[in-house]
Amino acid sequence: MPRPNSKKRVLSGMRPTGKLHLGNYVGALDNWVRMQDTYDCFFFIADWHALTTDYADTSRIKQNSLEVMLDWLAAGLDPARCTMFIQSHVPQHAELHLLFSMVTPLGWLERVPTYKEQRENIQEKDLGTYGFLGYPVLQAADILMYRGDFVPVGEDQVPHVELTREIARRFNMFYGRPIANPFYEPAAPFGVTDPLSAPLKGVFPEPQPLLTPSPKLPGTDGRKMSKSYGNTVLLTDPEAVVRQKLKTMVTDPKRVRRTDPGDPDLCAVGDLHKLFSDQAALAKVNEGCRSAGIGCIECKGWAADALVQILNPMQERRKKYEDNPRLAWDILEEGSKRASKVADTTMQDVREAMHITAGYEAPRPENAG
Ligand code: SF4
Repeated sequence: MPRPNSKKRVLSGMRPTGKLHLGNYVGALDNWVRMQDTYDCFFFIADWHALTTDYADTSRIKQNSLEVMLDWLAAGLDPARCTMFIQSHVPQHAELHLLFSMVTPLGWLERVPTYKEQRENIQEKDLGTYGFLGYPVLQAADILMYRGDFVPVGEDQVPHVELTREIARRFNMFYGRPIANPFYEPAAPFGVTDPLSAPLKGVFPEPQPLLTPSPKLPGTDGRKMSKSYGNTVLLTDPEAVVRQKLKTMVTDPKRVRRTDPGDPDLCAVGDLHKLFSDQAALAKVNEGCRSAGIGCIECKGWAADALVQILNPMQERRKKYEDNPRLAWDILEEGSKRASKVADTTMQDVREAMHITAGYEAPRPENAG
């Protein structure tokens, strides 16, 4: 599929974990919304990825996918400016995952830091499965399917993109086509050179990580905001709930009494102000906290004001789709068709490169090469 206005292509996904929270917003969604006009964006709901850890109970997966989509639309993702789809609705991802799994050395997967980390930390699920070990291969298939230029990631996810690049290199090394004229300069980024033989034309470009800001967003208990800690503020929380959640939020532990001065740099509420409040409010917080001129209840009220200002327009946009969720599902189906067209072209190239196309080929003599 031709790329609109020759924009660079970006690919990113999110697991369908249900309603999204502010951490999801500042960590990814807000960046995605900004990227829509600069890049040719493909955003997908990674339902197969969810199965790599949550395979035992899939009863909520479809509902959760819809909730994520409602939040995407609420945050401002626009089907006229980006392609949104569900991973499992583009089954070509599974085929490419299978083919990549043939060439990916086991050691590469066992060395992925999150693999070890999660196997040790997640005790309540049996993650000793083939699917869980292979999830970076599925991720490589998701990314390379669209031959994207960039993958927006935080610093900690750069190794995942590097693994995808290694899989692309290895695939190109095995199946890239020799270029007849060795002086021919292939157009970047598809050209790769195998140092051991003639220049090759690669099937896959190597995507680059696009480092996006992922600011620290504390939950109500001061730890990283996460559904598993039960400390989230949801994008769908009504104003009264937001205010109530913030009232219970932990503050600078040294500020025990109203008369004790505090430090907004050591306070989770202070972190919220840095992300969401305007300069005037920030100045009031800094001055008032350090001089004990304001109380924490007042300060939390200002933080809640800032959050509500961001959440209100999102909730208004969401309402249209909540009232008629079919609209959101239709957008996903349309997006899946668009994604499928690109995926078909890629898979045709892949099958040709690997000599596994469906069309008949006349037998060739053994030594014809
Ligand atoms: S005044 Fe605000 S920033 Fe200071 S400790 Fe209280 S809640 Fe935190």
